[in-house]
Amino acid sequence: MENCLFCKIAEKKIPSAIVYEDEDLLAFKDINPAAPVHLLLIPKQHFSTLSDCSANEAPLLGKMLALAPRLAEEAGCGVRYDADGSPTGGYKTLINSGPNGGQEVYHLHLHVIGGPHPWRGQR
Ligand code: AMP
Ligand code: ZN
Repeated sequence: MENCLFCKIAEKKIPSAIVYEDEDLLAFKDINPAAPVHLLLIPKQHFSTLSDCSANEAPLLGKMLALAPRLAEEAGCGVRYDADGSPTGGYKTLINSGPNGGQEVYHLHLHVIGGPHPWRGQR
């Protein structure tokens, strides 16, 4: 997709701080992090919004969602359990869709946001 920022990042035409890559997906650090950990996970294929995906994309979307905990874990903000079994740590997974959803970049992306509170911005 011409003139798409995240397509250019996926094609390495624009630099980014990449933390994960495979044949379908790329994850990189958000340039304006809202929290100590703020990653963006994108499909390499261009979809403008989540609403532009169909049931055909269920495996791709599932792969994105299943990867998020691994990225969070590697970034140091995974969910852990104390000795008594209570959860600690953790992160948000977020997809903004359309203007009313707060989407700014029109290439599907999943935010992985975490780290110790307080954060600068709550989304
Ligand atoms: P959204 O509002 O969901 O569309 O989020 C877009 C995100 O992309 C924002 O959190 C921006 O900080 C981030 N962003 C914009 N340009 C870049 C870039 N060149 N590299 C990394 N993150 C970016
Ligand atoms: Zn794109």
